[in-house]
Amino acid sequence: PYEVLVVGGGPAGASAAIYAARKGIRTGVVAERFGGQVMDTMAIENFISVKETQGPKLAAALEEHVKEYDVDIMNEQRADSVVAAEKTEDGYIHVSLESGATLKSRSVILSTGARWRKMNVPGEQEYSNKGVAYCPHCDGPLFKGKKVAVIGGGNSGIEAAIDLAGIVAHVTVLEFADTLRADQVLVDKANSLANVTIIKSAQTTEVIGDGTRVTSLKYLDRVSNEENEVELSGIFVQIGLVPNSDFLKDSGVALSPRGEIEVNAKGETSLPGVFAAGDVTTVPYKQIIIAMGEGSKASLSAFDHLIRTPAP
Ligand code: FAD
Repeated sequence: PYEVLVVGGGPAGASAAIYAARKGIRTGVVAERFGGQVMDTMAIENFISVKETQGPKLAAALEEHVKEYDVDIMNEQRADSVVAAEKTEDGYIHVSLESGATLKSRSVILSTGARWRKMNVPGEQEYSNKGVAYCPHCDGPLFKGKKVAVIGGGNSGIEAAIDLAGIVAHVTVLEFADTLRADQVLVDKANSLANVTIIKSAQTTEVIGDGTRVTSLKYLDRVSNEENEVELSGIFVQIGLVPNSDFLKDSGVALSPRGEIEVNAKGETSLPGVFAAGDVTTVPYKQIIIAMGEGSKASLSAFDHLIRTPAP
């Protein structure tokens, strides 16, 4: 059995694994795809101390750093359930994999991340990272002085519009419903900005580009049934972040109404010996540097748990 088993191999999981291995304890990492969301990212300019890097390069560096230590990396393996120590006969926490194997550990760190909800319209996939973006904090500055749209009029969409308005030339917000779901203070703030236009009852239907970059988007006015086209360089999709926590449904790990793993300041979940870090948790602001910090924190908490708890 492991002393620390990390589920997820993104920035949070890599960081947790390194911190655990540095304590000299038996550590394993199970990851469906090592590197996580970082593998889908082009330019990264906010990973402090590294002025500019690319996702696949950072992901390779993460893996290389983990491999410096005695860590079992089980890549391309998907966890499908977690059983609390109090429910197993041997007193270990069990993590079962889709392959049929069961891993046992004295502590588990869940760092399975999240995925941005997609619009699922033609052109979105083709122009992802070529104008279609999901993270305003990350990619906003790439559109300095240009026209962009934000899809979604919830809190994250309106926050994104306010954030982007300070950088880009103009922001068009497209909301599917006939009302905005964002808090009134945010809506008031967005309405006060001269370079923000909010369009409601607008269904985005297509992302259009010239083969290399986004050039416009089409939307359907759901009241008049007219199709409109907006010329722009960037589209920020802000229709929700979906945490990868489905496999925890019957585990007893408490999830928020949005499906995020509830953690306290130490990264503890509702199950003893089970910790969580990164985008899959209730910790706000989903960023690489935050996920790494949270991963190391969860790992230190797991170590603290191990030295205070007798082995089964
Ligand atoms: P993830 O990176 O999502 O990693 C999750 C890991 O868990 C993966 O290894 C995955 O395969 C694995 N996994 C999931 N489910 C299971 C399962 N059931 N069993 C086993 N393994 C599983 N942040 C920045 O700071 N700067 C940026 O410039 C930036 N740009 C971004 C651009 C894009 C296009 C995207 C999508 C995100 C961007 N982000 C950026 C956000 C950043 O990538 C995330 O905040 C960060 O990767 C979260 O790390 P994580 O380890 O919590 O999760």
